[in-house]
Amino acid sequence: MRSNPSDYEMIAPGSLHAIVSLLANEPGVWVPIAGGTDVMVQYAAGKLAARKLVSIWNLPELRCIEVALGEIRIGAGCTYTDLRGSEVVGREFPLLHRAAQWTGGVANQNRGTIGGNIVNASPAADSLPALLVYDAELILVSARGERRLPYADFHIGYKKTRLANDELVQAVCLPRRFSEYFGYARKVGARNAQAISKVCIAALGRLADGVVEDVRIALGSVAPVPLRLTQTEQTIRGKAIDSHLLLLAKKAAAAEIRPIDDIRSTAKYRAAVAGNLLAEFLNRLSSEQAGSERGRVKGILAQWNRLSIDEATEAILPCCGSKAWAQGMVARRPLGDEAALLAASEDTWRNLTPSDRKEAFRNHPRIGESKPADSSSTQSPSAKSVEWSAQEQRNIADADSAVKIALANANQEYERRFNNIFIVCATGKSVSEILGILRRRLKNDAETELQEATEQQRQITEIRLRKWLQG
Ligand SMILES: Cc1cc2nc3c(=O)[nH]c(=O)nc-3n(C[C@H](O)[C@H](O)[C@H](O)COP(=O)(O)OP(=O)(O)OC[C@H]3O[C@@H](n4cnc5c(N)ncnc54)[C@H](O)[C@@H]3O)c2cc1C
Repeated sequence: MRSNPSDYEMIAPGSLHAIVSLLANEPGVWVPIAGGTDVMVQYAAGKLAARKLVSIWNLPELRCIEVALGEIRIGAGCTYTDLRGSEVVGREFPLLHRAAQWTGGVANQNRGTIGGNIVNASPAADSLPALLVYDAELILVSARGERRLPYADFHIGYKKTRLANDELVQAVCLPRRFSEYFGYARKVGARNAQAISKVCIAALGRLADGVVEDVRIALGSVAPVPLRLTQTEQTIRGKAIDSHLLLLAKKAAAAEIRPIDDIRSTAKYRAAVAGNLLAEFLNRLSSEQAGSERGRVKGILAQWNRLSIDEATEAILPCCGSKAWAQGMVARRPLGDEAALLAASEDTWRNLTPSDRKEAFRNHPRIGESKPADSSSTQSPSAKSVEWSAQEQRNIADADSAVKIALANANQEYERRFNNIFIVCATGKSVSEILGILRRRLKNDAETELQEATEQQRQITEIRLRKWLQG
């Protein structure tokens, strides 16, 4: 049934002070109306219980975005169009910016306000998951004064909030500490535009050393209130993103959400979509990291490509130890990425003379020792080479003295037999494995042994080049 306009009264006092005084004098009698995009839907359907409306539309006190050092303060009367037009929201709070873009159509974005979205308190509201992950705080105002409340504590049940009936939401405050995070937001509805979400997500993540250092995830339409998935976040934090983690995260999310069947969707569909959106977020976060890793590698190589011949030779020499190899690599510049670098290295190494290869061997310490075997070597190893050798031989350093003596004896025998130091790619090998390899190779003829040592040095160089690219 449609409403009868004569049953309603609407006034527009025009200032925040006048409005909060009115609400204080007759609490619960006057209901604020901002853009009216929710209120007027109820009115049109004959379901608007409030008969007295007070307009807060376009109040200067509510329609501004203030940028302070630690936070931005968005007036509750800002429309979606205002949010879309804000440079600071777009740059530092892209998840909110994106939600503003997909809320309703243009007419709706010109009228609908963020304050209205918050107080209307729909679990399907699009901007609210973003407010959760950005740790938003609300400033509530009344004739009694102002109070500040974390947005996460504001919604206490389906369409229930902590707003007192003499209060207005004055502003939403967002701390400016998330601009370095990777952000992901998606809305799944019947259509891309003009549709209420079946599920929507806002998520932030940051990786460090290959593991998730921090993550913040919120979903809409999966519970009576917009939901921050704190348990799921805890499951994810500190772990590397792989297929196992995706399964764990989906399981944790399924245990946290409480979706329902309604006219827009089913609980089963919502649960499946929520899990898929979570997995998509984690996969994107992971490839974002890979992308920035690739960018960093390219930057390191670009810098090396620009060095003088002598500087570039010196910079790459610790990866192999052979001067001819280093000069060969420098001659192949510019090298654009890791694959090109490794291919150039293999080719250069393959075309070296036996004496150039032996120079690389002599730059290593004996297995079980920390100083290079040949003190008369043409160049003394760089600090980098010494550091890498120590890392490569980490397992041997911890071995007991009997094994170390056995290694030293076998080393001596090897050098007597082949007139060179024993070369093995020690990374990831145990001492007993290395001792076994050394004893086996003592039975090689000289030619076979040179080939084996050459291959081991190739592997060492490859590992070192990868480390070198870490900067
Ligand atoms: C066609 C259409 C499409 C829509 N699409 C979407 C969509 O995609 N996503 C989405 O999330 N929503 C959507 N909506 C819902 C609506 O546009 C939003 O919730 C909007 O943000 C409401 O803001 P408003 O200013 O119009 O609120 P109003 O209708 O003016 O008010 C809504 C409620 O909030 C209260 N209120 C408003 N401002 C304040 C304040 N500052 N302090 C205290 N109380 C206040 C009012 O009293 C009322 O109870 C759509 C609506 C329509 C009609």
